[in-house]
Amino acid sequence: QAKGAGRNTLRFFDPAMQAAASERADMEADLRRALQEEQFTLHYQPVVDHAGMVTGVEALLRWLHPAKGMVSPAEFIPVAEQTGLILSLGQWVLEAACAQLVAWNDNPQTQKLSIAVNVSARQFRHPDFSTHILDLLRTSGANPYRLKLELTESLLLTDFEEAVIKMGELRSIGVSFSLDDFGTGYSSLAYLKRLPLDQLKIDQSFVRDVLTDPNDAAIAKTILNLANSLDLGVVAEGVETAGQRDFLLREGCRAFQGYFFGRPVPVEMLHL
Ligand code: C2E
Ligand code: MG
Ligand code: MG
Ligand code: MG
Repeated sequence: QAKGAGRNTLRFFDPAMQAAASERADMEADLRRALQEEQFTLHYQPVVDHAGMVTGVEALLRWLHPAKGMVSPAEFIPVAEQTGLILSLGQWVLEAACAQLVAWNDNPQTQKLSIAVNVSARQFRHPDFSTHILDLLRTSGANPYRLKLELTESLLLTDFEEAVIKMGELRSIGVSFSLDDFGTGYSSLAYLKRLPLDQLKIDQSFVRDVLTDPNDAAIAKTILNLANSLDLGVVAEGVETAGQRDFLLREGCRAFQGYFFGRPVPVEMLHL
C-alpha cells in the first residue's frame, strides 16, 4: 500500500503495529504498578509419583489485573521479558516460593514437598543469577534440596558453557534442574548429555494425543527411554486422563502433572 508513496517518503504508521505497540506500553505500565501493588500471586500444581502421592508442586504465576481480571502468564511473561521487568518479577516469584517452602517446614505432611519455579531466559542470563539464588536461600532459610528450577532448551543453548557453570554452582548446594517443555526445542543429544540436569518434562503437546496419535506415543516413549539411558528423571506434563497416565506408567514414567491430578490452585486449596 505504502509502496506507491515513493522511496523518500516517510511512512508514518501502520495502525495495527501502532495498536500492538501501545498495548505493550500499557501492559508494561500495568506490570510495573502490579509489582508495587502486589497484584501477583502464585498458584501451585501438584506433581505426583507413580502411586498418585504428591511429591511436590510447580509454582505458576498469576496476575489479578484490577480491570481485566486474571491475565495469563503466556500474555504477560513475554512483555515482562522484553521490558526487563522479568528480573524483579522473577525475583518476587523465587522469594514467594522460598517463603512457601519455609512455611511448609512445620507440618510433617508438607515438609518434604519440593517447589519447581520457572526461570525465564533473561533472568537466567543475568550474571548474578546464581548469586541471587544463593543469597535468597541463605536469607530465607529454605532447603535448597527442595527447590527445582525449570529451564527451557532455547534458554540453555544460547551461552551453553555459561549455563553449565551456573547450573553447576547451584547444583553443588542441592538445587535441581528440569528441562521444561522437552521435545519442542532443538537440543541435540550431545548437548543434553553435557547439561547438568536432573529431569526432563515431557511437553504437554505430546501427552495430549498420546493415546490416539502414534507419532506422539513414539515421541513420549523415546523421551522416556532417553531419560532412562541418561539417568534423568521424567515428569509428564498435561496429563488429563487416567488413560494417558496408564499409558505413560506402562512406558516407565514415574512422575506426572496435569489436570487429572489437580489444577494449579492457591496454596490453601492444594489437596496433599
Ligand atoms: P509451563 O511451565 O510449561 O507450565 C505448564 C502450563 O500448563 C501451565 O500453564 C499449567 O497451568 C498448564 N497445565 C497444567 N496441567 C495441564 C493440563 O492437564 N492440561 C492443560 N491443557 N494445561 C495444563 P500456565 O500456568 O498458563 O503457564 C504457562 C507458562 O507460563 C508456563 O508453562 C511457563 O512457561 C510460564 N510461567 C508461568 N509462571 C511463570 C513464572 O513464575 N516465571 C516464568 N518465567 N514463567 C512462568
Ligand atoms: Mg514449567
Ligand atoms: Mg512445560
Ligand atoms: Mg510451557
